[in-house]
Amino acid sequence: MLTFSEARNLVIAQSRRHSTPRPTLSLPVSDALGFVLAEEIRTDREYPPFHRSTRDGYAVHAAETPAGASLRCVGEIKAGDSVHEPFASGTCVQIMTGAALPPGSDAVVMIEFTRRDRDQVTFERATQPGQNFVPRASEASAGDLALPAGLRLGFAELAVAAQVGHSTLQCHTKPRVAILSTGDEVISITETPGPFQIRNSNSVSLTAQVKLAGGDPVPLGNALDRVDDLSAKIEVGLREEILVLSGGVSMGKYDLVESVLKGMGAKFFFDAVAIRPGKPAVFGRCRNTLIFGLPGNPVSTMVTFQLFVIPAIDILSGADPRPLPFLEATLAEPLHEKPGLTHFLPARLTWTDSHPQVHALRWQGSGDVSALIHANCFLVVPADRHDIPAGDRVSVLPRSDVL
Ligand code: AMP
Ligand code: MG
Repeated sequence: MLTFSEARNLVIAQSRRHSTPRPTLSLPVSDALGFVLAEEIRTDREYPPFHRSTRDGYAVHAAETPAGASLRCVGEIKAGDSVHEPFASGTCVQIMTGAALPPGSDAVVMIEFTRRDRDQVTFERATQPGQNFVPRASEASAGDLALPAGLRLGFAELAVAAQVGHSTLQCHTKPRVAILSTGDEVISITETPGPFQIRNSNSVSLTAQVKLAGGDPVPLGNALDRVDDLSAKIEVGLREEILVLSGGVSMGKYDLVESVLKGMGAKFFFDAVAIRPGKPAVFGRCRNTLIFGLPGNPVSTMVTFQLFVIPAIDILSGADPRPLPFLEATLAEPLHEKPGLTHFLPARLTWTDSHPQVHALRWQGSGDVSALIHANCFLVVPADRHDIPAGDRVSVLPRSDVL
């Protein structure tokens, strides 16, 4: 059986083989959050465009301000002021943070280190040339690469685009991800469940996970555990680039997803992974669609989505797959797990000062979605460890939406 990282690598390799040049769309910069940039963005001018003061103080010639020196202040410059007049030797100019240094001045003295008596300013300590300003063009020259194509746009990337004057951005369209739950017991969330029925929460969590991952969810409802209903609804799902199914992939008599897909021509790259929860997860391809069959227990569905579906969405979005952001933390209480599978236990990461500590949460197994309300991460117990004493360093995987 594959380890989760072997399985993930297969997803990455197959998604790359499968990805084709994507259509693009033009978006206002304020609507482009989470999209992947399809063009290169270059700087329109030098950054900063002038020697920019980083302090409130006095622009000087450093050589003229040894400790105790006193100079006449001949004016002031605030952020946004045009500065043309050359700096006269033997004077200083009051300057605000963000303002341009007068040509010829080579340092800013912080106001905290000066005393002022009318227009006479006394400097309490010596200044070095280059102090307290950012030189023109030190961040970027005109025409430098500001944002490469293939970058997923977060708030900082959008700010850079705005800074260099791009009010619209060419982005890749988001990959459409069909979502199909399966199970005779599963009913729509608007219906009243009979005593042995359950509401379709997986379609809701998967829709949310697809959105957060940067995909465009296409919910298809639920299929009964019958060949005809499953084939008909899978057929609709095969119109999209990715199809995510929940349920019906275990060993039960009514777990038909894999056999129905096989009958429709699917090829599988894996059909089990050495993890708990989530062992029966399957990944394959049918015609032009990548297919993930995730186990139906809600926590299994969520964990396997985070491990395996997110990298496929990244790649089909035109981006590099984001790595799994494992962190190290100190185990708060001893743990006993069966060896053989890598466990992803719902857990809570807390910090005392800056030291992360992790507690595994009490839960009733992978059907216990309520336990996840308190979980901000999954505690990763490697397959070869069963008794882990409190105080050991362990690995945790932050929940993709809360940390
Ligand atoms: P399965 O993987 O089909 O064996 O499903 C395992 C269990 O997951 C079922 O017994 C249900 O309790 C639960 N389950 C399956 N599908 C869903 C769903 N769409 N929403 C919520 N829970 C589900
Ligand atoms: Mg089922």
